[in-house]
Amino acid sequence: MRKLLIKEIVAKGIKDRRILDAMMKLPRHFFFDDIFVSHAYEDKAFPIGQGQTISQPYTVAFQTELLEIQPGDKILEIGTGSGYQAAILMELGADVYTIEYNEVLYKKTKSFLPNLGYRPKFFHGDGSKGLPQHAPYDGIIVTAGAPTLPQDLVKQLKVGGKLIIPVGNDKTQVMYRLKKIDENKISKKAFNNFSFVPLRGEKGWK
Ligand code: SAM
Repeated sequence: MRKLLIKEIVAKGIKDRRILDAMMKLPRHFFFDDIFVSHAYEDKAFPIGQGQTISQPYTVAFQTELLEIQPGDKILEIGTGSGYQAAILMELGADVYTIEYNEVLYKKTKSFLPNLGYRPKFFHGDGSKGLPQHAPYDGIIVTAGAPTLPQDLVKQLKVGGKLIIPVGNDKTQVMYRLKKIDENKISKKAFNNFSFVPLRGEKGWK
C-alpha cells in the first residue's frame, strides 16, 4: 500500500528521490489509531484528534521538496501534530525543532515519536511567532494555514534560508516559498492551493 501511495505522489509531480525513499521507509499507519489504519495509505489528510489532522502525504512531500534540505540543516516545523512531517525531515538528515500549540498533541507526540527512533527537539507554545530562542534556521515549515505572512518568521531565517508557508483564508491557502537573499532582501514565489487547518496564536487566527 505504501508503494502505491508513493506511485500516486510521483504521478502528482514529486521528484526528489530522497523524500520518496523517506516516505517509503516511514510506516504512516503507526501514526494512526488502530481502528483507522486502513486509511493510512490514502493520499488524504486524516483527523488525529483535538480537531487537528495529519497532513496529506502529497502535501508533506510538496512542502519538504520546497525546503531543499541538506543534511545538517536546522529546520523549524510549526505544527508538530502527529509527528509524521518531523520524522520525514529527520530522515533527510535535518536537525529538527518542532513546536505545537495544542498541549494534548504536544504531549502525545513527544512521548510517541521517540519510540520510532525520531527525537526532534519538541516545544509547546505559539509557533506563529516562531521560536526565536533557537533562531536562526536554514528552513521554516508551517503546517497550518496562516492569515498573513508573519514577519517574525522571516527574521528567524539565516541568509539563504527558506520559509514554506500556506497563506490564505480558513478554507484555501496558497503555498509560498520565501528565500532570504540577504538581511534586507526576500524573494517570494507562489505555488498551488492547499487546504490546511488554521494556524492559531498571536500571528495566526487567534
Ligand atoms: N505536521 C503535522 C503532521 O505531520 O502531522 C500536521 C499538523 S496539522 C495539519 C497542523 C498542526 O498545527 C496542528 O497540530 C495544530 O494544533 C498546530 N498549530 C496550529 N496553530 C499553531 C501555532 N500557532 N503554533 C504551533 N502549532 C500550531
